[in-house]
Amino acid sequence: MAVGALALATALAVCGGLFARRAKLLVDLVRLGRPAERFDDVPRRARNEAVIVLGQRKLLQRVGPGLMHAFIFWGFLVLLPTILMAMIGAVDRDATLPWLGHQGWFALLVDVFAVLVLVGVLAAVVIRKLQRPARFQGSHLGEADLILALIAGIVTTLLLWHATRIALGLNEWPAGWSPVSDLLSGLFGDDSVTEVLERVFVWAHVLIILSFLAYLPYSKHLHIFTAPVNVFFARTGAGGRLEPLRFDVPEEEMRFGAGTVPDLTWKQTLDTFSCTECGRCQDVCPAWTTGKELSPKLLIMALRDQVFEEGPKLVRGADGEFEPAPLVPGAVTDNVVWDCVTCGACVRECPVSIEHVDHILDLRRHLVMMDSRFPSEAEPMLRDVERASNPWGKPQTERAEWAERLGVRVLEPGDPAPAVLYWVGCAASFDERARTAAESTARLLKAADVDFAILGPRESCTGDPARRMGNEYVFQAYAEQNVSTLNEAGVTTIVTSCPHCFNTIGNEYPDFGGKYEVLHHSELLARLVRDERLQPKAGNGAITYHDSCYLARHNDVAADPRELVAAVGEPIEMERSGKRTFCCGAGGAHMWMEERGGKINEERAREAAETGAETLAVACPFCTVMLDDGVRQRGDDMRVVDVSTLLAESLDDGDGRPA
Ligand code: SF4
Ligand code: SF4
Repeated sequence: MAVGALALATALAVCGGLFARRAKLLVDLVRLGRPAERFDDVPRRARNEAVIVLGQRKLLQRVGPGLMHAFIFWGFLVLLPTILMAMIGAVDRDATLPWLGHQGWFALLVDVFAVLVLVGVLAAVVIRKLQRPARFQGSHLGEADLILALIAGIVTTLLLWHATRIALGLNEWPAGWSPVSDLLSGLFGDDSVTEVLERVFVWAHVLIILSFLAYLPYSKHLHIFTAPVNVFFARTGAGGRLEPLRFDVPEEEMRFGAGTVPDLTWKQTLDTFSCTECGRCQDVCPAWTTGKELSPKLLIMALRDQVFEEGPKLVRGADGEFEPAPLVPGAVTDNVVWDCVTCGACVRECPVSIEHVDHILDLRRHLVMMDSRFPSEAEPMLRDVERASNPWGKPQTERAEWAERLGVRVLEPGDPAPAVLYWVGCAASFDERARTAAESTARLLKAADVDFAILGPRESCTGDPARRMGNEYVFQAYAEQNVSTLNEAGVTTIVTSCPHCFNTIGNEYPDFGGKYEVLHHSELLARLVRDERLQPKAGNGAITYHDSCYLARHNDVAADPRELVAAVGEPIEMERSGKRTFCCGAGGAHMWMEERGGKINEERAREAAETGAETLAVACPFCTVMLDDGVRQRGDDMRVVDVSTLLAESLDDGDGRPA
């Protein structure tokens, strides 16, 4: 017994020492990060922990691989006490954990979950070795194989140890409660060979577990420890909101995005430690799936590599001599940074709540604000936003021209505030194809007797395209100006047809003192239909609805536009819809950038055409333009139209006005 205790103490000291050494470095690296506010909203964080970590909700979105992971994860939770039992049993063959070690029900749980873990491991091998899904491209597969082998070793030695104990009559629990171990016990006799094997299995079990624990923090399976923490500290607010940069703090606290490893926030560093390399983000990324350089998975892995390469020197202080390398192009190329359409599909899919968009936007912020480095074709847009208050570079006096012939009230300074302010947005104000939605919306609001007005020339760009390009200065200047205009006008409720304006005003302007009830036009119109203030007639044939990322995924508005589609025609869903929609290709200021590689809008148009629908309904001016282009380029016979226009047409009394 003394030899056993000494051996166990030595193994614990070696493995524990290796583990602690690595854990200290990881903690130091996270602590090196810049501040991030993630200690609020504890009940929501606790709920996320229960649902995403314990319930494995995100993983179970894909049933096969999800169950595979859940079996292994839940199995290990249930089997945790057996680690202690094995350590006790290794030192003293006749001892076990008090009470629990004698329980038949626990022995049953152990058998069931040990088998489930083995099923999970087998499924993982089939997925990785036979199915070989593309999402694993670029992942460290050899390391994963070793981890799977260790997991299989842990549960197999556990079952065999229990089986030999039953064969020797050493089981503290009733053997009938552990049917698998009991069955396996038939392989062994009650003799000295089994006595030796019992010792071999228990020690093998203990040593594999300790080696596994020592190896984990040095491997990508580090996520076993970091992922639950990362999920807890994930954002709890709207997905579309970006954290503002603070320009009102002392210079040494100011942050201009992320240029080098020390610029990352502690949450961003933790993100990089949490990646499981599962590739779910890569699989749904419109940039990657259309053949561009950006893979959100490879981006996070590359940032992690740079953190591990430079972090130890930064933690040590490295004699003050060490200059960290730029993250662009050190970790990723410029193309990777600019390929992103900020659709958020990666963030939504990621089972460990990594926030790729925040990483990419911080890289952009640094490139734009510190290095003036961005795709040259976006320069006119940034210039026009600054100079003309809109990305089209048109005079502000033309902003309300479309509204004049419809008799829409333009709010003048000092006028009483309307019940609803219609925020038209730059696209609908200046782009002919996008304008139809504004005209339809205005007609419908009039038909339903809604008291509304527009700001006309006093409305400016929300600053969204500049912000998504990384120019936080310009964004904040517009945010402050628009909030001041809206507050002075006494506006309380805003409706907008543009999901980008909807997201910016609703989720980002509160950071600048602008707190309003913000509705997307599809929400208000659906409400008016429900209240029978608008009574559409069906008859528009088969319609497939495309969810805008900034509406459905970032802001959870998917039911209302569908209600409108169902009211005027026969809805047909595309394969990717709702929160799992596929981008039109315009997000992240891509409306003004050259697209390299395959075309995202054509890919989405293809998916829409495959439904066989005659109409592709949209609820975003950018989606209108992008998908209309996509349909034309592909030569599909499909009309792209905003839901408001479909609704207005169904009410049309023949002279262009809703009845
Ligand atoms: S936000 Fe969209 S485009 Fe950007 S990395 Fe994520 S999935 Fe890809
Ligand atoms: S970032 Fe998330 S979804 Fe992407 S590979 Fe890593 S863990 Fe998987």
